[in-house]
Amino acid sequence: MRIVIIGGGIIGAALADRLTGGTDEVTLVEQDRPGAGASGASFAWLNANDPGDPAYHSLRVAALGAWRRLAGEFGDPGWFRITGNTAWADTDPVKAVLSERVARLSTLGYAATLITADRLRDIEPSLRPPAGAVIAHYPGEGYVHGPDAVAALLGRARDAGARLVTGTPATRLNLRGERVTGVRLGTGDDLHADLTICAAGRHSPALLASAGVVLPLVDAEAAGSSAPGLTATTTPAPGLVNGVVHSPGLDLRPTPGQGLVLEAADLDDATDLTSSPAELDARAAELLDRARSLIPGLTARIEKVRRCVRPLPADGRPLAGRHLPGLYTAVTHSGITLGPHLADLIAADLRDDEPALAPYRPGRPIRAQLASAHAGPLFGYSGG
Ligand SMILES: Cc1cc2nc3c(=O)[nH]c(=O)nc-3n(C[C@H](O)[C@H](O)[C@H](O)COP(=O)(O)OP(=O)(O)OC[C@H]3O[C@@H](n4cnc5c(N)ncnc54)[C@H](O)[C@@H]3O)c2cc1C
Repeated sequence: MRIVIIGGGIIGAALADRLTGGTDEVTLVEQDRPGAGASGASFAWLNANDPGDPAYHSLRVAALGAWRRLAGEFGDPGWFRITGNTAWADTDPVKAVLSERVARLSTLGYAATLITADRLRDIEPSLRPPAGAVIAHYPGEGYVHGPDAVAALLGRARDAGARLVTGTPATRLNLRGERVTGVRLGTGDDLHADLTICAAGRHSPALLASAGVVLPLVDAEAAGSSAPGLTATTTPAPGLVNGVVHSPGLDLRPTPGQGLVLEAADLDDATDLTSSPAELDARAAELLDRARSLIPGLTARIEKVRRCVRPLPADGRPLAGRHLPGLYTAVTHSGITLGPHLADLIAADLRDDEPALAPYRPGRPIRAQLASAHAGPLFGYSGG
């Protein structure tokens, strides 16, 4: 079978890696460079930290297992780290939310525990310990550094025979009757395919519209949209932060290059597609100020600030399945966490209907449940 995958983010890369190596011919088309979209700018916290929907929580737990297996195949790469995640709350309502979350996650068998300030000092000695905070620790969580993970997955796919076409977009889906037969490229060439997989992230609705398919994503262009977000990375700050940290007003984690990735729910929410470069720089400076308050020894500077757009399904859940003969869509929120597991499930789905994907079919009735990409004031990125 000739398979064309549109999009070189974590979803397209995981699919290319998963689907190459057998008898199928796999081609991946990326309009820019691999990792240029959300996957390259993501906070990229690996987690199943939201117990609200037990079935979705289980999907995410399985996704953490898929990452551990995959990273093992790459021999403990620097871009995959199970460092643990520490989160704390300093106001009564949020303390109650955090305590309840830990209790519910524990009931589900997920590694979650409340710890003392002394224990926090052991885990993250450089951070200024919060007085009187409720502190949670999740030892099974960590991060995947998106750009490096995408590069590794696509490198392995290419070694196994996949073809990569970069620097030109798929401008439309080609149709014969009801069947999608491939894509037209920006060069004017047609790529023929028995199966076209749309993994174009936030740009998926535009591509699918060329075949009359509607994909229910949150509109990134709308005023106040929760799809656009903001992360900043710093110059190296070696040894100052060991794992993922969610503190009031700032989330942070290390990078493989010993810098830090910074994000904050309020600054992310304030960012939309109209935010000017000066506003983005001001938000990055604010992130750095917050980081310096949290880490007294921090002297690093902002290296890069990135506005990026989440592919955000209107109900926050993955969209995976066929729309038309020859056309499959794979678009999700939390794609860093879910990518390799979704790729495994989709590979199974292409052979035979995969029951684990039944709740996530693109044709399901979707109510817009997701007011924000964040689950609350405490947790920054929610894992939702
Ligand atoms: C600020 C922020 C923080 C986040 N934090 C987390 C987190 O902590 N944990 C987590 O799990 N997830 C997180 N996410 C979400 C996660 O990053 C995304 O779900 C994931 O990266 C989506 O991957 P993707 O491959 O679907 O999309 P993308 O990475 O956007 O990739 C899509 C690719 O398709 C290409 N493309 C688009 N249209 C075309 C076309 N017509 N032709 C060819 N190529 C095309 C684009 O150039 C792009 O490279 C976060 C996202 C943001 C923005």
